Amino acid sequence: MKKKEVKKVLTRKSLEGPYQSPKGMRDLIGEEVYNYQGFFEKAAEVAIYYGFTPIETPILEQEEVFVRGVGEGTDIVDKELYTLRTKGGDKLALRPEFTASVMRAYLEHGMQSLPQPVMLYSSGTLYRHDKPQRGRYRELRQFNLEILGSEKAINDALVIKVFISILSEAGIKEIQLKLNSIGDKDCRPNYRRELVNYYRKNLGKVCVDCIERFKTNPMRLLDCKEEQCQEIKSKAPDSVSFLCEPCKRHFKEVLEYLEGMDIEYTIDHTLVRGLDYYTRTVFEIASKQKEGSDIMSGLSLGGGGRYDYLGKVLGSNKPVPAVGVALGADRIISSGEKLTPRIVKKPKVFFIQLGYEAKLKSVNVIEILREARIPLAHSISKDSLASQLAMAEKLQIPFTIILGQREVIDNTVIVRDMENRSQKSISLKELAVYLKEIKTVAKK
Ligand code: AMP
Repeated sequence: MKKKEVKKVLTRKSLEGPYQSPKGMRDLIGEEVYNYQGFFEKAAEVAIYYGFTPIETPILEQEEVFVRGVGEGTDIVDKELYTLRTKGGDKLALRPEFTASVMRAYLEHGMQSLPQPVMLYSSGTLYRHDKPQRGRYRELRQFNLEILGSEKAINDALVIKVFISILSEAGIKEIQLKLNSIGDKDCRPNYRRELVNYYRKNLGKVCVDCIERFKTNPMRLLDCKEEQCQEIKSKAPDSVSFLCEPCKRHFKEVLEYLEGMDIEYTIDHTLVRGLDYYTRTVFEIASKQKEGSDIMSGLSLGGGGRYDYLGKVLGSNKPVPAVGVALGADRIISSGEKLTPRIVKKPKVFFIQLGYEAKLKSVNVIEILREARIPLAHSISKDSLASQLAMAEKLQIPFTIILGQREVIDNTVIVRDMENRSQKSISLKELAVYLKEIKTVAKK
């Protein structure tokens, strides 16, 4: 089949196949899987140093957990939730974020009776039926941190600090942190009223989406990215001037802790992060936009905030003040350095087999080295010495082990130094010890 025809078949919307992954969802293959594993491993390591422990929640939840938790009138619930009805009639939804699930788990397992706060990290895939574009997928991956059971401002600063440390480990050091405070149930209604009054006067000048937001979720008006709305947005009343005394004090403390940690920030009055559950602190970190750099720069790498009412919304009889952050793994990985997971080892030796008997015995040799934890590469489906040596050269592996007919009979292998071409016969029993010795010598 010609290339063009293959493409046609692959893009055909056919129910008979060949099939493609769903729109906005990707297969991760080889290196890509390692990049994600490496990032999540490093992020977990940083989180553990800061006192977080892991939690894994199901990918599916009762739909209500998100409808009530994240809130109607938000894009995530109204437009992006993947929902399904099970054969038993339950209404479930694929998780679009971690926070509501983690709070559900905290309440379900009575974590309120543990010493507070409870610090949890989680990671994995999330699902949002959004319009796919660069850096925006329908199956996305996040690393997530939550501190539940404390309203203290130090926790707000702490999740931001851990976020920055993880970015730094991933090689992203040029960042901009924006934050804002959107108040609580006492002061936010006043602010909201003022915002609505302001937008009511300007409704003729805003985009159609903003007219919809005005009706359903006015705080989201400040999220609008449309050019025509920017001026109206920049002159909108700001929430910080409406904060009540306790919220003002809390925000001031967050800023003081950040300053104490030498973390630079800017206060952005248009940052509201339109989810219902946020209270007080909200924040976002983006990579610093550089002139002429690609479109990934300046994109939001993650964000979060305080959500003191979510616990009650999900059925707790006591308030559960909490704060959290979600890091966008897809964007961090594509803009940062690639981190290698611990399980991936650079091969130190290349294994070559010659002849039928040697091939039969080759897996035994690989197993000896695996047990001794010596990473090895091979190409046991190949037969000729030349093609196997060429592969070893190509991979730039310093030593090869050669198992030929004679070695099979003697229970030995030849160990060849690829640099100076010297070689030595070593018994299989001593192979692991010998390789460890020469590897150490070679390192010196
Ligand atoms: P959010 O959970 O919406 O606050 O998003 C937190 C971070 O996740 C964002 O800053 C992005 O880096 C990332 N993110 C959000 N939505 C997507 C998406 N659809 N595809 C890829 N990354 C996303």
